[in-house]
Amino acid sequence: MADPPAPAVDELADDLRGRLVRPTDPDYDQARSVWNGMIDQRPDLVVEATGTADVIAAVEFAREHQRPVAVRGGGHSVAGDGTTDDGIVIDLGALDEVRLDPETERVHVGPGATLGDVDHETQAFSLAVPSGVVSMTGMAGLTLGGGVGWLMREHGLTCDHLAEAHVVTAEGELVRASEDENADLFWALQGGGGNFGIVTRFTYDTVELGPTVYAGANLHPARDAGEVLDFYEEWTARAPTEVVTAAIVKTAPETSEIPAEHRGEPVVALAACYAGDPDRGRKVLEPLTSFGDPIHEDVRERPFTEWQSSSDDAWQAGYRDYWKSCYLDELPDEVLEAMVERVHEMPSTIMDVKLEHAGGAMAEVDEHASAFSGRWAEHIFKINGRWEDPAEDEANIAWVRELFEDVAEHVREGVYVNYLARDDQDRIEAAYGKQTYERLRQVKANWDPDNRFSVNQNIRPASD
Ligand SMILES: Cc1cc2nc3c(=O)[nH]c(=O)nc-3n(C[C@H](O)[C@H](O)[C@H](O)COP(=O)(O)OP(=O)(O)OC[C@H]3O[C@@H](n4cnc5c(N)ncnc54)[C@H](O)[C@@H]3O)c2cc1C
Repeated sequence: MADPPAPAVDELADDLRGRLVRPTDPDYDQARSVWNGMIDQRPDLVVEATGTADVIAAVEFAREHQRPVAVRGGGHSVAGDGTTDDGIVIDLGALDEVRLDPETERVHVGPGATLGDVDHETQAFSLAVPSGVVSMTGMAGLTLGGGVGWLMREHGLTCDHLAEAHVVTAEGELVRASEDENADLFWALQGGGGNFGIVTRFTYDTVELGPTVYAGANLHPARDAGEVLDFYEEWTARAPTEVVTAAIVKTAPETSEIPAEHRGEPVVALAACYAGDPDRGRKVLEPLTSFGDPIHEDVRERPFTEWQSSSDDAWQAGYRDYWKSCYLDELPDEVLEAMVERVHEMPSTIMDVKLEHAGGAMAEVDEHASAFSGRWAEHIFKINGRWEDPAEDEANIAWVRELFEDVAEHVREGVYVNYLARDDQDRIEAAYGKQTYERLRQVKANWDPDNRFSVNQNIRPASD
């Protein structure tokens, strides 16, 4: 593909209020980088948009010069979909305004806002938008894929709370999408990813929560992994919808609060959050907090914002990440056994393997009411491969794949699109299921028939 002509690039730079970063600029490497340090792509240009006008200018430029477009909100796509080779990156990171309307209790969110930005504004009013579990993650990509987290069993997914979106289309037009306006587009934005246009403003309904919750994690030694996972199975079968629980096989941090003999050793964390009155949460979580013989206990009443950012240190940008995931409608013994067997063999001390309890309110929404698919999932299984040294790529990727293959043969097909890896493009149809996938292809044909927005978990237009 020929580079866009220099005069046209200069003209684009003049049209923008934000910056246009070119490969010759000293901060080009910074501008092209995304959260996952494994992604090393070289776009032609990075548009650091300051508003909708810049987004429209960039979309029109890309169309005129036939360049692929990558859209970056928080840059946390593990597949690296916030950048591309030989195309235009539209970086929305500066558009991080969050404004709560106290009358409607709706919150308007710019596409560069993180989960932490939204929690900060909403929690000032003891309100929340259900979202994910690491506060630096981008609200945009998370919402467009679905959005699973600590509130999902009581309040549903992030996309279930989307009330309206402002969208720049492939034609460079600004439209509104809601249940009453461009309803097909709105349906697709609730789980269909970044395929249909560029969202320049999200509006969410909020729920009452906080400012404190009863939440935290106890760490159990790896020798008890079997009992801990049996407890997880038995506990999640009866836990009320206010509770989301996760069982996480990982390595204990080398910090002073961990007994010296367990630092750097494999452990299983039992983490939980009660989405409601903290005193009630203390009582409800008692079976979990009194279970077993933990080496470290930290389940307590705390500010919701503190809990939402409690994992941030472990998930900083720039490391190498390769994840595999699937939904589970039950917990086959083989999956639990695979986790127990592998707990002592993890190839990296910064990776983990996680089971997260789903269902509840998430499952109560009609499965065809939004593009999100996976409301049937009772649990989300996720191998978060993560390491630092490029020389260890092969060993880590092989380990993740091997464990995933062992697990996948015992489970029903289905995966959360936001947890797909770059080499998972052949799982996209299965992620949605046939009916939803075909409907998404129709919507794609209506809104982006030439597949200009293709750097994502891509839905091919129906006409293709
Ligand atoms: C550390 C970490 C923790 C995570 N935890 C959770 C979790 O708890 N729950 C959960 O549900 N997910 C979680 N995820 C996955 C997360 O939802 C996705 O990575 C999501 O894509 C992040 O959004 P982003 O805006 O940061 O991504 P980006 O990389 O900026 O964008 C990802 C994709 O979203 C699309 N996109 C982004 N912004 C826009 C926009 N404004 N308009 C149109 N398309 C857009 C683009 O197509 C792009 O391909 C986590 C990811 C990481 C790295």
